[in-house]
Amino acid sequence: MSLIKIDDLCAFYGKAQALSNVSLHVEPGETIAIVGANGAGKSTLLDCIMGLVKTTGQITLDGEDITGRKPGYMVRAGIGYAPERFNLFPHMTVRDNLLVGAYTARDDIDKNMEAVHRLFPRLAEREAQETSTQSGGERQMVSLGRALMSSPKILLVDEPTIGLAPKVCAEIAEVLKRLSAELGLTVIITEQNANFALSLASRLYVLEGGHVTATGTAEELAKDDQLAKSYFGA
Ligand code: ATP
Repeated sequence: MSLIKIDDLCAFYGKAQALSNVSLHVEPGETIAIVGANGAGKSTLLDCIMGLVKTTGQITLDGEDITGRKPGYMVRAGIGYAPERFNLFPHMTVRDNLLVGAYTARDDIDKNMEAVHRLFPRLAEREAQETSTQSGGERQMVSLGRALMSSPKILLVDEPTIGLAPKVCAEIAEVLKRLSAELGLTVIITEQNANFALSLASRLYVLEGGHVTATGTAEELAKDDQLAKSYFGA
């Protein structure tokens, strides 16, 4: 059974339609990527899964219909979210920002903090630092770590490489690979950088103007010349 299954999802901001009949599925342990340009609807799609934006259509998690549930329910059900601009509390420390993600975790807080420190030793070293004084890469790590503090089954990661230097992108890619390989986590990432997405994801969905216009493995998508030119620089 798919861990997440989405059928015919539509989302509107007022009268403007941001998503049109989006359907996708993610299998347990799989990493998939949603690729698309600015304004394609990538963040809106993740916001819908997280219950932050109202939708029509259906979203199921492990077979349970979770459509229309509130964000707190989604977190308890096992969905973790690392949003695009991190949404950290800039004047709180790294540790306190991580603890914000643990409000549903109860007994697992110490265990999850240790796991986050193992994945990101730099966050352990800089526990007491305010996040406002950190680099973009470090803040991305805090954002991913905060999402992991709620013991998610599936992690939603919105444009993890935006504004980051290539070396830092490579570090983030390594961590995302470890989440899947070592923790068996299921991951959905969104990306404008299709080559980054390809390095992580087994399958991709191309989102254009709120529609899924193509889907498949990298090899399958590369057969489409136009698509390859637009997204993969081929
Ligand atoms: P980006 O890479 O720029 O974040 P995206 O693919 O994530 O792009 P979305 O942010 O989901 O795209 O935006 C999809 C569409 O919805 C765009 O046309 C955008 O202008 C519009 N939109 C997004 N958020 C809102 C909002 N809060 N109110 C009104 N329109 C919005």
